[in-house]
Amino acid sequence: MPETLKRILVTGGAGFLGSHLCERLVDQGHDVICLDNFFTSQKSNVEHLLGKANFELIRHDVTHPLWLEVDQVYNMACPASPVHYQFNPIKTMKVSVMGAINVLGMAKRCKAKVLQASTSEVYGDPDVHPQPESYRGNVNPIGIRACYDEGKRAAETLFFDYHRANGVNIRVIRIFNTYGPRMHPYDGRVVSNFILQALRGEDITIYGDGSQTRSFCYVDDLINGIMAMMNGPDDFPGPVNLGNPHEFTIRQLAEQILEMVDSKSELRELPLPADDPTQRRPDISLAKKKLGWEPKIELREGLAKTIDYFANLDLRKFRKPTD
Ligand code: NAD
Ligand code: UDP
Repeated sequence: MPETLKRILVTGGAGFLGSHLCERLVDQGHDVICLDNFFTSQKSNVEHLLGKANFELIRHDVTHPLWLEVDQVYNMACPASPVHYQFNPIKTMKVSVMGAINVLGMAKRCKAKVLQASTSEVYGDPDVHPQPESYRGNVNPIGIRACYDEGKRAAETLFFDYHRANGVNIRVIRIFNTYGPRMHPYDGRVVSNFILQALRGEDITIYGDGSQTRSFCYVDDLINGIMAMMNGPDDFPGPVNLGNPHEFTIRQLAEQILEMVDSKSELRELPLPADDPTQRRPDISLAKKKLGWEPKIELREGLAKTIDYFANLDLRKFRKPTD
């Protein structure tokens, strides 16, 4: 239990990561305000928190100004899966940039500490491997992923400018691929796609030849890292990589899921989307040194919990965000 209870805003709080974060903060006794426009999530993710006296849910779009009195802000609002952030790319850029300006302006006024959920996508298709925070990246500024990558890069710039110019107390984390219960079943990310396809006996859709790599972090580990960063030393604003450094090819991920689900699904290769990064693995030395954080949950253990979640999910309760 933390020494002092705080009033904490989580933007995008009904989403996959946001809902786990809200739950942990509520359990610690903080007064939690969850703000969301429900573009890629639904209220059911935080339904279990609605009756609690220290939890509040607000429907709001972060591209519009916010006026709240809080001690801390976790800025998680932004569509995160390629299918969703490419659906309305101009809006995606607005969410990152105007969302950052709005939370930073509010944090400046009420002297709140504010954490930005940035991403490994700021490294683009990296030619340095694994990626340390000092690597400046290889992003195609005019490609189909740029609305997200460049939006998040601009948000990082805004965070550091508000910090230097206005003394706002900031934290910037760069999250690498994270998975677990409450991922949206239709959000098109690789872990949820493969698990649902395996459970239904449908073909597993491998984009390209499956030799591209990702490093998958289980949600509980990530939430520990996010909270460690928010409550870490003020002289360490980041950016800091948060992710699991164990790297797998997409084909290996598919084979592991097929084996665990005991599925008869077959692998089917589909065209690789433009600018899909060929490799990704975080260098987490800085997080280990500054926060004493590293992930503990291996892929097999995390996948077992995620498969169990999807196997028991009533898909009729979900709508496709892009419909
Ligand atoms: P998610 O799509 O499940 O959650 C995002 C939430 O933000 C949703 O609830 C959505 O409705 C909300 N949102 C979107 N636009 C909004 C707006 N204009 N106003 C208010 N709310 C809005 O995705 P997630 O995986 O939980 O990602 C959360 C954050 O973490 C995002 O900022 C994302 O960029 C970042 N991130 C996630 C990953 C990952 O692997 N999950 C990796 C890197 C970065
Ligand atoms: N991918 C795939 N099949 C799918 C979904 C994704 O092969 O059904 C690939 C995708 O091309 C990428 C990787 O899996 O190389 C991770 O994709 P995801 O959308 O989960 O996240 P990204 O890291 O690309 O943002």
